[in-house]
This record gives sequence, structure tokens and C-alpha cells, in this order.
Amino acid sequence: MPATIGATRQSALKHHMTKQLFQSAAALLASVPFGMIQAAPGAVVEPKDRAANHSEEAVRVAAFQGDRAGAISYTFDDGLRNQYLLAAPILNGLGLHATFFIVPNCVTNTKAEAEAKKPGDMGGVSWDELREMAAKGHEMGNHTWAHYLPKNDDVKAEEELSKADQKIEQEIGVFPLSFCYPGNDRDPHRRELVLRHHVEAREYETRMGKDATPQLLNAWADRQAAEHKWGVAMIHGLTEGYDPIEPEVLRAHLTYVKQHNNDLWVETFGHVALYVRERDAAQLRVIGKTAQSVTFLLDTPLARPPFDFPLTTVVAAPEATAAEAKTRDGRTLPATVSRGALHVECVPGPEPVTVTWQTQENRALNARKSTHQQ
Ligand SMILES: [Zn+2]
Repeated sequence: MPATIGATRQSALKHHMTKQLFQSAAALLASVPFGMIQAAPGAVVEPKDRAANHSEEAVRVAAFQGDRAGAISYTFDDGLRNQYLLAAPILNGLGLHATFFIVPNCVTNTKAEAEAKKPGDMGGVSWDELREMAAKGHEMGNHTWAHYLPKNDDVKAEEELSKADQKIEQEIGVFPLSFCYPGNDRDPHRRELVLRHHVEAREYETRMGKDATPQLLNAWADRQAAEHKWGVAMIHGLTEGYDPIEPEVLRAHLTYVKQHNNDLWVETFGHVALYVRERDAAQLRVIGKTAQSVTFLLDTPLARPPFDFPLTTVVAAPEATAAEAKTRDGRTLPATVSRGALHVECVPGPEPVTVTWQTQENRALNARKSTHQQ
């Protein structure tokens, strides 16, 4: 097995140990009215809102990682064979991560069993093949144990959810962050059930299927950036199976999206969901400021884990040529100069962060000072 599985098992354990905390965070989220949550991913990233909620003049939390204009999550439903054979290699070749909503009851134990299924059958993949995909950074999300989530039986619904969670955690080594309703059949009551165990459920999506063309899909991607949205694509079959997309259409589109990496953040559904939740709950306060530094506190009421995904904080420093970011307890955070600002990747928490930077001018000045001192 690849070495990354060891690390993900550790994170699964972390999840396990903090299940109580996680549940209370989920309860907090679940208490937000349904309509608001549904509107949240695409709606609350207006610059004005951000200024009001999460930003002070010197520092702000970026709407999406890397301060990109929009985000996209590609989600593949039902665990079809061609998703493994055709879609995963395209994604891997471009270094993009996607989410596969799988149905554990249908996933096979051997490759031979998977190959024996009809094209387009649910779960035409083996656990080994799914582990191989997970090791490339793809997410295995919960699509219920057997593609069934009863409406009027909470005990049974809980069972269908947690059986799938447990099996995925056991086989893949990662507790599934995200969930997808069978047949996209959603309602507020079951959303509340689902969010006791998951960071987010897929509540809206754009179908990419047999009528897709690169032009249509690329225009959709452009809109996500232009409108500062989180677009969620839903794909089933490739070439064969339910509503199949042609692999070459998908390849052309994903290549285009990869070329627009500066504007679009392509990540798994679970990771973008973590980012969005943390961003919207972030409590940002500037504590101190000099000409070449700023100290801020980026705190959160959410439980860590699972809400320990780094947020991009954007520090206004138009002349900066190099930067360094440190927490009060001495940890160095990734800091980069980007498009006239500094980006610091920062997990929300109680430790203040100090960012210091250099400009052409102050570097020259410092050089002169040290010459004088000699
Ligand atoms: Zn499905």
C-alpha cells in the first residue's frame, strides 16, 4: 500500500477520537435554517459581505483557497467502472482531485468481480482500486450503504448512513467528510441527520453527461469564477452507463480548467466544504501592525478536527517581495507573494499569527544600514 494510507489512517483515528466534538459542531451547523445553508456556498462571497464579516483593512480571509475567484468540485456518483478506468487517469494526469460518491454494499472485493459487472453497474470497482484512487488525493464520499435512505424511519436511515461510513473508513482509512443523497432526493429533515456525521451534503449540482461539449462546460466554469461561486459538477457514466459523458469531452474541459488554475480552485467536495464552513465562521482580528508586519488572530467556534483545513488569509502588502509567517508558538506557516498581496495558509485557531515582509526599498535600506555599521 502507498505510504499515504498510513497518514490517512491516523487522521481517521483523529476523527474517531473527536467524534463528540464533531457531532456538536454538526449540531451547530444543523441549527442554521435549511434555506440559508442551501444558499451559502455560492451566495456569501460578495466582497461587501466579506468586508463586513471577516476582514479588517490589513487582512482578509479569501473566498477560496489562493484567493481564487471561484471553486469547482467534480463529483462522480455510484462508483462505476469507467470512472476508475477513464476519469481517474485524466484527473491524475492533470493533478486534479475529485470526489467519488460510492455505494459500499456494491463495491467488490476483487478486480475480477468488478470486471464481471455490466458497464454502468453500481460499484463496478474493487476496494483496492478505490484505495489506489484515494492515494492520488481523491475523496471517497458516502452515497449510503445500498443507495437507499428512508424518509420516515430515522433508525433505519442512521443505519444506512453509518454502515457506509464505517465500511469506507475501514477500507479507505479516511472517514468520509461528504455525503450525497441517492437519486438527489433531499429534504431538510434528512439533511439534519446527514450533518450529524458529515461536513456537507451535495445540495445542488450541474449535470455533465451525454449532451456535454467542452464549450458548454468551459463556459460554466468561467461563470463560477465570474460570479464567485462554488460549482459542483455531477457525473455518472463515461462512454457507457447512466447519462455518459465522452472521456475526450471531460479531458478537454479539465485541461481548460487546469489552465485557469489562477482563477479556479478545483478540489474535492469535502475539502471545499471544510473551507467554506471555516471561512464563514472565521473570526478575524488584527492585533498589531507596523510598516512591514501585521499580527492577527484567526479564530473559529468550529471543532478541530474536522474543521482544521487551512484558510488563505490575504495580507495587504503591495510592495512586498518576500514574506514570512509565524504563529506565537513558533510554527512557520506557508506564505507567498501573489498578485500584489501576501497569502498565508492558516488553520483557524487561538494562536496569533505574525506576518513580516520585505520590500525592494526596505531591503536596500537595510543593506545600506548594515554597510554603515561595519
Ligand atoms: Zn446515485
